[in-house]
Amino acid sequence: MKFYSTNNPLYFVSFREAVFQSLPVDKGLYMPEQIPQLDRHFIDNLDTLSFEEIAFEIAQAFVEDDIPSHELRRIVEETIAFPAPVVDLKDGSHILELFHGPSLAFKDFGARFMSRVMAYFAEEGDRLLDVLVATSGDTGGAVALGFAGVPNTRVSILFPKGKVSSVQELQLCTNDANIRAIEIDGNFDDCQNLVKQAFNDVDLNHQLNLTSANSINISRLIPQTFYYFWAFSQLKKAGKERVIFSVPSGNFGNLTAGLIAQRMGLPVKHFVAATNTNDVVPRYLDGEDFQPLPAKATLSNAMDVGNPSNWSRITELFGGSRIEIAKAISAYRFSDKETQEAIASVYQQSGYICCPHTAVAWLAAQRYRDAVASDDTIVALSTAHPCKFPDVFSERIGKEVVTPNAVQALKMKSARKIEMDADYPGFRDFLLS
Ligand SMILES: *Cc1c(COP(=O)(O)O)cnc(C)c1O
Repeated sequence: MKFYSTNNPLYFVSFREAVFQSLPVDKGLYMPEQIPQLDRHFIDNLDTLSFEEIAFEIAQAFVEDDIPSHELRRIVEETIAFPAPVVDLKDGSHILELFHGPSLAFKDFGARFMSRVMAYFAEEGDRLLDVLVATSGDTGGAVALGFAGVPNTRVSILFPKGKVSSVQELQLCTNDANIRAIEIDGNFDDCQNLVKQAFNDVDLNHQLNLTSANSINISRLIPQTFYYFWAFSQLKKAGKERVIFSVPSGNFGNLTAGLIAQRMGLPVKHFVAATNTNDVVPRYLDGEDFQPLPAKATLSNAMDVGNPSNWSRITELFGGSRIEIAKAISAYRFSDKETQEAIASVYQQSGYICCPHTAVAWLAAQRYRDAVASDDTIVALSTAHPCKFPDVFSERIGKEVVTPNAVQALKMKSARKIEMDADYPGFRDFLLS
């Protein structure tokens, strides 16, 4: 499979180049030259297949013979080495739990696949691979844990000071020496800008073998399609085949993966995009201009993105037509107050505790159901474990949150971070030192 740039449909690269370059030189985003079509038989029999079987089939449709199939099978199995169950809350709503990986967030899927694909390709060369990643919280932990122990790699993770939770900070700062946590005195967009400047710095790119681990990397999107199929498979087994997904969104990578899954043949009826008050997409689908704004801090901090970088991929999938996008996606925004009320009411009705991002998706699912009087099965994607956001919960709910042992163990480790201003020359010197 070849990949092209959204800015130039005639510019093609191999999977390997798309993975290592992350961003095409023309600053578009890579997309597969065509969305692979899965055969009818596979789709009709999803409910008879295991998660591994489903994931491998999908991965192979993208990767083709760029990675030998026994290696790809290993990569896929290591990627999804934890469950992704659909939980029926018995109040008409369903939750797809994507937080059972090592960083307790759905970004483990993308990060684990990407790090293993990079490690596979990197074995062919011998230059140190410098991975740069900006995080609003969850990407960093997933990437750090994904690259932990991967030889010949060095990871620099930039995170905004005071804007990640204590569990997130622990996950970022308690890793091996090849993982460097950098606390930037600024917000997520400042972090992302520093990374972008580094990639656009021709001289720096001559000296270092830079690559990005952000959600813009095509190898992050591929594994995120897996769990849409797997959720569908679980629901089909339960006799539910009219499925709608509600996706809590920041950079919109997760939703992009869902739309790609649908194009591959998964019969999803509709998508709901859920945002916090960083609402450039809901505004756009309401008819306003696409107007990126500085990120605002909210309780669902992994979704505090003012300029969603995957939006151009979604635009590309729909040939630039806002009308077509709006047919496929309904978008809603929610305030912190609504988010907190949702956490409380889900807990009251079902005894279930959801993280603030999940709560936003749950709210959007309810809003959509009310708006269209739909009795289809709406599944809210649960993107993180609630223990990552202890400050969000009331005392009563907070007491009920169970922190997994793996997180408890991090508290015993010593934490290291490097503090830096949001200033490019300083960051550049650090990378070269
Ligand atoms: C990253 C993240 C999101 C947003 O996902 P995008 O793919 O950037 O839209 C939502 N929830 C959590 C917990 C996240 O870490």
